[in-house]
Amino acid sequence: MRILDPHIHMTSRTTDDYEAMYAAGVRAVVEPAFWLGQPRTSAGSFTDYFDSLVGWERFRAAQFGIRHHAAIALNPKEANDPRCREVLTEIPRYLLKDGVVAVGEVGFDSMTPAEDDVFAAQLELARDADLPVLVHTPHRDKLAGTRRTLDVVRESGLPPERVLVDHLNETTVALVHDAGMWAGFSVYPDTKMDERRTVALLREYGTARMIVNSAADWGRSDPLKTARTGHEMLAAGFTDDDVDQVLWRNPVEFYGQSGNLVLDPVPGFVAGEPPAPGVEFEGSSVLRGVRA
Ligand SMILES: [Zn+2]
Repeated sequence: MRILDPHIHMTSRTTDDYEAMYAAGVRAVVEPAFWLGQPRTSAGSFTDYFDSLVGWERFRAAQFGIRHHAAIALNPKEANDPRCREVLTEIPRYLLKDGVVAVGEVGFDSMTPAEDDVFAAQLELARDADLPVLVHTPHRDKLAGTRRTLDVVRESGLPPERVLVDHLNETTVALVHDAGMWAGFSVYPDTKMDERRTVALLREYGTARMIVNSAADWGRSDPLKTARTGHEMLAAGFTDDDVDQVLWRNPVEFYGQSGNLVLDPVPGFVAGEPPAPGVEFEGSSVLRGVRA
């Protein structure tokens, strides 16, 4: 099973997770920018974080044989803080960096007017940078939030195939599917979707434009939920090719629209062995030699 986890916050995870993910078939990830749990108080807090997403985390993942990519954005929750909104002027330069494959996560949290403005502004940044967009849907009032999300996307004029709408469930999948956008499912241990419900939706809607992620972060979550969903698909009668489509080819097609995916194996990497000294890393010369 080969897996690209299209939404996972590796900054919050351990090296044990990277090892377990590799063993389960994960060969690439996309890490969208999100909030830290603790509110940020300045734009500088974001730029340090973005730098670590495109630099340090990319290097760390490569040591475990996993290709790391990032999506960059001001997250919906912090769009409400004027101190955070200042980062919007910094985002365009990050969208040009190696390994940045999308704008994200953007969208609504509490559906405030400030979130509306920041969402629309970032869709415009995506258009200017010619990148796809990862859109978060609110956990409260999900149906109304998803409807409003689709309205904002339509107003932006972005082509539907450039947009992945995430955290969907039984009540919201049809809206996104019918709109021609990519449908994302975050499979969590005890909230959002589980493997079984996700597989039921794959049976109902088919495997085209359907994407499964672990959305693992610093909360109770599981970075192996992509693999577990793949095994649940097989147990339910889907083929290996179906699993490959959902866990690999679909996210590759979506993020591949950026032209920035790197998917060849990490040179010099051998599972279970310490990284070779020359393990490839294109991100930052500062990081070379950090690990003796
Ligand atoms: Zn997330």
